[in-house]
Amino acid sequence: MSEDIKNTEKGGISVEIEHIFPIIKKWLYSEKEIFLREIVSNACDAVTKLKRLASLGEAKDLDGEDYKITITLDKAARTLTVSDNGIGMTEDEVRRYICQIALSGALEFVQKYEGNDVDTSKDGIIGHFGLGFYSSFMVSNTVDVITRSYTSDKAVKWVCTEAGEYEITPDCFRAERGTDVIMHIMPEEEEFLDEFRIRGILDKYCSFMPVEIYLDVVKTEEEKAEEKKDDKDEAKEPEAPKPINDIHPLWQKNPSECTDEEYDSFYHKVFNDYREPLFHIHLNADYPLNFKGILYFPRLAHEYDSLEGQVKLYYNQVFVADNIKEVIPEFLLMLKGVLDCPELPLNVSRSYLQNSGYVAKISAHIVKKVADKLNSMFNTERENYEKLWNDLKTFVEYGCLRDHKFYERVKDSVLYQNTDGKYKTLNEYLEAAKEKHEKTIYYTADKTAQAQYISMFAAEGIEVVVLDKLIDNQFINVIEQENEGVKFVRIDADVAGALKAEGKAEENTKLADLFKEVSGNKDLKVSFELLKNEKIPAVLNISEQSRRMDDMMKMYRMSGNDTGDFNFPTDATLVVNASSPLIKRLADAVEESEDKSKKIAKQIYTLALLAQRQLTADELQSFLADSFDMLENI
Ligand code: ADP
Repeated sequence: MSEDIKNTEKGGISVEIEHIFPIIKKWLYSEKEIFLREIVSNACDAVTKLKRLASLGEAKDLDGEDYKITITLDKAARTLTVSDNGIGMTEDEVRRYICQIALSGALEFVQKYEGNDVDTSKDGIIGHFGLGFYSSFMVSNTVDVITRSYTSDKAVKWVCTEAGEYEITPDCFRAERGTDVIMHIMPEEEEFLDEFRIRGILDKYCSFMPVEIYLDVVKTEEEKAEEKKDDKDEAKEPEAPKPINDIHPLWQKNPSECTDEEYDSFYHKVFNDYREPLFHIHLNADYPLNFKGILYFPRLAHEYDSLEGQVKLYYNQVFVADNIKEVIPEFLLMLKGVLDCPELPLNVSRSYLQNSGYVAKISAHIVKKVADKLNSMFNTERENYEKLWNDLKTFVEYGCLRDHKFYERVKDSVLYQNTDGKYKTLNEYLEAAKEKHEKTIYYTADKTAQAQYISMFAAEGIEVVVLDKLIDNQFINVIEQENEGVKFVRIDADVAGALKAEGKAEENTKLADLFKEVSGNKDLKVSFELLKNEKIPAVLNISEQSRRMDDMMKMYRMSGNDTGDFNFPTDATLVVNASSPLIKRLADAVEESEDKSKKIAKQIYTLALLAQRQLTADELQSFLADSFDMLENI
């Protein structure tokens, strides 16, 4: 030891260090915990380098000992130590790699931002300038490095204070090659001496690092005494320590070697989601993209269930960030999964990602793989695909709205469910409908409210699909734009040809005026048709175009936009069924008993309204009162 002190040399990291350290402390202020990732991933790199050298025969493997990283938390000593048995450093290397901060980049940064309050967490400055190691100073007032290179039998000790003053001592002792980074935690960063906090950080960033990591918590004297007492009570076998990480994460394996159970249990573990995912996609992109990953389709409980997924980005098994919007296309952000991109720098800045052609290619590759998976399920396991469709529908439609390429890829695998619960593609529907209503798709937005229309269509063998989600409105616009001549018509929008009987109905102006009067809407259009179903006296139709405009305005308002008092006039037509006996009677009686005719007409109109939508409170009240009145007179 005295020998060590004699040889100790003093120095300062650089003249500008007083500029650097305050900035280091501000770095990633909101995410100080990242220092641990930086130090542990350095240790991991040191082991990986040694393994490589050993495989080339340039370094000796450890005799019987495994490569590992040990993190020692010693609350009493107020230290957090990261030890590895990797490549180590010689004195010269310590001077080169540790003492010399990559100043050019860092100084530039300091000059640019000094005095400004920058949110560095967004830009991820650390590592950008090769300063990962120095992030330890965000939480420590002194950092010691004891390191022994694989080429040497002596170690070097480097001790640096938060002011940037270091001491370097050669010829120290370390039993084996490798490095210890001992961080003396500052009083105000007490949390980093807490076992659960440290476990949490390791869990987040280091769960899949490629070298086994052990956490060793040094017990205080009291804890030891307590433990001894417990041990006496029940004699327990001491458990062998377990690494906190999985060095062979599933995404690194060959997809053909992974079972469904493995995919599911990986999902449950990583995302703490007890539900089964719908299915997964194992990504394995070769050169030049060179990335791996697994994406899961989570099960969404309903349309508005949080569409927020979680895609974790890794860099060589080191966690980088969640949900990087630049890498995952926005419409796929509801997916859950992991992506490992060794081609991206560990500390990537947002602007780098936004402008990177590589990132754009990853994103396009993911979109393609997702589309391929949907198509392959549609083609090879249609029954199963249909079972999943209701869960997939919103996401697929949203994807089609957002990304035309995605639409192009999946368009033939999009399904429509009819009112009988059967699933059809657009082409299958149109093919079956060819004879009756070419290129028109009839749909309902509400199976219950529009039950009467559905039964009229069903009686004529016309298939009706259910499009009852908000997004369907926009989606059908896309389908119409992309497929010439195809149009979607809601079943209450016009009277389908197939519902009409032969012949032409005569107009009856008196009846028309009567209905206008009782409806309280002088602009109401009244038309006369001969419908096959004589039981129905009248139906109310709202033109597809005006209803879509109205729906759009409603959505617009729902999203908080002010549209003033402007309302689209709804283009409503009362279609009076001239073949209905009730209408015939009404036509005959209209002049003789005006009062009675009005009552009947009002009731017919309100029933038509009721079959189309829910009545408003006022409408319902007056409908009930009129109905009771009529019952009294029967
Ligand atoms: P980066 O890792 O981005 O190069 P760092 O500041 O984190 O930057 O580390 C600087 C250098 O110090 C590393 O490149 C490596 O050569 C050396 N180093 C850091 N930690 C260790 C370690 N545990 N074992 C061996 N060398 C290390």
